[in-house]
Amino acid sequence: MHELSLCRSLVTTLEQEAVTRGLTRIVRIDLGIGCLSCVEPEALRFAFDAVAKPQSLARCELAIRRVPGQARCHGCGRHYEVHRWLDVCPGCGGDSRDLEGGDEIMIEQMEAC
Ligand SMILES: [Zn+2]
Repeated sequence: MHELSLCRSLVTTLEQEAVTRGLTRIVRIDLGIGCLSCVEPEALRFAFDAVAKPQSLARCELAIRRVPGQARCHGCGRHYEVHRWLDVCPGCGGDSRDLEGGDEIMIEQMEAC
């Protein structure tokens, strides 16, 4: 399962971050997930609960925000958000574009105590 291995590396990253910053407990993380990343937020949440976590993350709450990609249309130059691969330009209906982001997974915020 893709989400499970993703969570394992997420936990490892958070654990290292906690050590680096001298945090004893991380209570909440805000995760940004690109809409085009093929990651299912629900599956990710499920995996995060299931995966083994160190003490510092035992009660960590996971907040997930979906982040759309940013596109610039080749046809009319319009900037628009891409939520799905099949989204086309709302201005002219074209699908030729420069795409930026939308497939990344990032820790946007971390709350510790
Ligand atoms: Zn266009």
